[in-house]
Amino acid sequence: MTLPDLEAKFAHASTERTHHRDQHLGIVACREALAAARAGNYGVGAVLVDPNGSILEQSRNSVFFPHFRSDLHAEMVAMNAFEERHPEVDNMRGYTLVSSLEPCPMCMARLLMAGVQTVKFLAYDELAGMVNQRHQFPAAWKRLWQRQEFVQADVSESLKQFARDVFSLNLEACRQKLLSR
Ligand SMILES: [Zn+2]
Repeated sequence: MTLPDLEAKFAHASTERTHHRDQHLGIVACREALAAARAGNYGVGAVLVDPNGSILEQSRNSVFFPHFRSDLHAEMVAMNAFEERHPEVDNMRGYTLVSSLEPCPMCMARLLMAGVQTVKFLAYDELAGMVNQRHQFPAAWKRLWQRQEFVQADVSESLKQFARDVFSLNLEACRQKLLSR
């Protein structure tokens, strides 16, 4: 799949009429994912909403461009911005982060530490996703997620497929870059 294919797929998926509960937030996350892919980064995007459902942060993977930053996965970018801008928030009950992709070990650890109550993702990441392997976390970390939930988002099948496809676009190139460091 090429970038123009992805642009066309997104245009279609973002305008379809559905009743899926997380469709709107899923579209916002996927729009960010597409922008990340366009820039040559991993095609992953995220959005953070407050307990009223208002969007506070939108973010995208920025690991390779504009310059290398190993920590800048989409979820990390959202949490960095939120914690800088809202030092007054002392707990994250009622907050939801929606990511286009299942969080990796680094991001899942961060989201556990941050206490984001609900984490939703559109596509599973068979190779690097941590949600399906969370029983492997150390005991103290497992205790943290008793107050949180990590679940797949309720969006249309075509949007889930888009989230997988946009992540695939630069996956191999990014992997090669990481391995060569
Ligand atoms: Zn991550």
